[in-house]
Amino acid sequence: MKKNSKTSFETKCVHSGIDEYEFGSVVPPIYQTSTFKFKSAQHGASLFAGEEKGYIYTRLANPTVEAMENSIAELEGGYKALGCASGMAAVSTVFGALTSSGDHVICSAAVYGPTTTLLNAIFKRYGVESTFVDTSNTQAVKDAVKPNTKVIYIETPGNPTLAISDLSAIAEAAHKNNAVVVVDNTFMSPALQRPFEFSADVVLHSLTKFLNGHADVIGGVIVVKDEETYKHFRKTLSQLGGVIDPFNSFLVHRGIKTLSIRMERHCESAIKVAEYLEKHPVIKWVRYPGLKSHPQYELGLRQHDGHGGMITFEVEGGIEAGRVMMNSVKLAQIAVSLGGVESLIQHPASMTHYSMGKEAREAGGISDGLVRFSVGIENVDEIIADLDFALNSVKESLTKAAVPSV
Ligand SMILES: *Cc1c(COP(=O)(O)O)cnc(C)c1O
Repeated sequence: MKKNSKTSFETKCVHSGIDEYEFGSVVPPIYQTSTFKFKSAQHGASLFAGEEKGYIYTRLANPTVEAMENSIAELEGGYKALGCASGMAAVSTVFGALTSSGDHVICSAAVYGPTTTLLNAIFKRYGVESTFVDTSNTQAVKDAVKPNTKVIYIETPGNPTLAISDLSAIAEAAHKNNAVVVVDNTFMSPALQRPFEFSADVVLHSLTKFLNGHADVIGGVIVVKDEETYKHFRKTLSQLGGVIDPFNSFLVHRGIKTLSIRMERHCESAIKVAEYLEKHPVIKWVRYPGLKSHPQYELGLRQHDGHGGMITFEVEGGIEAGRVMMNSVKLAQIAVSLGGVESLIQHPASMTHYSMGKEAREAGGISDGLVRFSVGIENVDEIIADLDFALNSVKESLTKAAVPSV
């Protein structure tokens, strides 16, 4: 697409990363090839020496992958992007590129479970020390900064507590200390939050979630702001090897075309679901960035263009009642992952955040009874009716439990 700074986000979703192709193809061709033929021995040598531009081998670069990367770089307002085999490949590549033995990392306490485990289990062995703090408390972040702090890694809204962190304030504190701010923007997608606008340095996503949006791809992406960082990250990614393949890139790029319209529906439905839940008698609490009861509601208004499709809540009766609820829904499916067109429900303490351990979960505010709901794009009245049936089943089970047995 011809670049025009005034082009709207919706139009960018449809056209970004799309070029002119052979035969007038409207969509990018899938170059499902591992390697590229050189015109001559000299040509191959000059590609390797960087004297000529061209493709060599798909782990290094591939045109279908690049088309998807360019699309996301444009949507995030970054310089370039790097497609990765999964969200975790993106996370591990970022830490691989930015940290060395003796460095210190500050990470949100409420963060995707395997990110905690990656820092605690693998990077710790390489001499990288991590401190987990509630990053929705800017002062707590400032207090955790040490002279050797290299990276402040933020997930906002955090998974699964949906705590919102003040990106501009954290970036200011980080930059004073020459630390880099990395934001996992998976929960919002660039349609709802663009962390570079709040001075973040690196943005990453699990493409598996909202960006692809159809629950049929595992992928990740890293977006950077300048050429120097890009070159360093590209080298790290090529060496660690966690690149995405052409076909998955094609699917993600296809998914992005409807990102804007999907996010609109996710937001529209999620607020209705959250408001419904807040009124139900067996609900203990509901957390959704669009509810006035959210502790960082005002900050969310400043940072987001919409409040997203993720809701967390707890039902009365703790973990057992949560299980009754999950086993009673029919439209929503019990599955981990999120951000797809279909509604999904899951229990972080026994599923996505199990590997963190109870202590780390409690420190991150992830209670045993917390249920996470990814609001899909189905008819919202049907989503609510499904939850209503399940919550009434919980109510019945609680009433039964309250009757003394004879
Ligand atoms: C799913 C997820 C990841 C990891 O992505 P994968 O594609 O599963 O590797 C990272 N961060 C967040 C916030 C996620 O939801």
